[in-house]
Amino acid sequence: MNKMLRQSLVAYRQPLCETIVDCPAPRGTQVLVRIERCGVCHSDLHLQDGYFELGDDRRLDITKDRPLPFTLGHEIAGVVEAAGEQAEGASIGRRVAVYPWIGCGKCAACDAGEENLCSAHRHLGIAADGGFATHVLVPHPRYLLDHAPLSPDFAGPLMCSGLTAYAALRHLGERAERGPVLLIGLGGVGIMGLSIARALFAEPPLVADIDAEKRKTALACGAAAAYDPADPQARRAVTAATGGLLGVCDFVGSDKSLQFATGVLARGGKVVVTGLLGGTFSMAAAMFAIKAMTIEGTLTGTLAEARELLDLARAGKVAAIPTRERPLSQAQAALDDLRAGRVVGRTVLAPDG
Ligand SMILES: [Zn+2]
Ligand SMILES: [Zn+2]
Repeated sequence: MNKMLRQSLVAYRQPLCETIVDCPAPRGTQVLVRIERCGVCHSDLHLQDGYFELGDDRRLDITKDRPLPFTLGHEIAGVVEAAGEQAEGASIGRRVAVYPWIGCGKCAACDAGEENLCSAHRHLGIAADGGFATHVLVPHPRYLLDHAPLSPDFAGPLMCSGLTAYAALRHLGERAERGPVLLIGLGGVGIMGLSIARALFAEPPLVADIDAEKRKTALACGAAAAYDPADPQARRAVTAATGGLLGVCDFVGSDKSLQFATGVLARGGKVVVTGLLGGTFSMAAAMFAIKAMTIEGTLTGTLAEARELLDLARAGKVAAIPTRERPLSQAQAALDDLRAGRVVGRTVLAPDG
């Protein structure tokens, strides 16, 4: 029997720890994927902590329904190694990205194709064992997406940071055609958003980040202008340059980022929030009507959106983001670097690295 190595969450707020078990044998529609790469995402930090920061010292506990040891990691690309007898199309050796936002298949959200919003979900690396490992068990071949000619380094992160950014940009709708959009926060999702916005929209986007290094990277990646939202003049500068914006994506999700986002909106503008940093945001209620403002949250994206994004990327329209490869054994060090803000672009773990 093949062994499966994992960098496991064995206790919340404790370092990951190597565990070794027998590889699961896929049954029915299940597919066993040997992992080539798994991206490290900011939400892995929240999962390791076991809570989300809600602001005012309040926390959302997220330790329930996750038996330990547990395998984090949801930006997976790999190779089909074994498949159950009903796993049609999962030919051995097929190189795939794994759509991780897997639902129960029975609820209204799943019926509507929104498995990412399922309340009884089996999201890989969130509720079911994920990709900080040599192998992952996928419940059905429909979640396997071909990614050639893209590298697994790029295809894995497309399944979370890429998909989150893509869905957020799509949710701006036709507003994104009527002027430049603003992307706030240039972490893994934001820098991917920049790359995707360049592929989707005629005008290059504006960006905002408090980190000068990240602003520099964004300008090198084609942003039209970069602002420091901590600069008290920044809001006025954006408004003066654009007359106010119709579309803003907030990839940070804090009180400060939302204040900046709503502060630069034109009438009829929309903010799409994907970030989970934390804090409490308040605004005069009358401003919703006075500015005809929309604030909308999105959570990753649907399987259909994942296919659209992969089509776009496979056609060569999405520039690859800066990526650093590290061996799986350095999973904890990669998380530590991400927490300390030392990461530009994406880190991917390689089990054989
Ligand atoms: Zn993620
Ligand atoms: Zn469901």
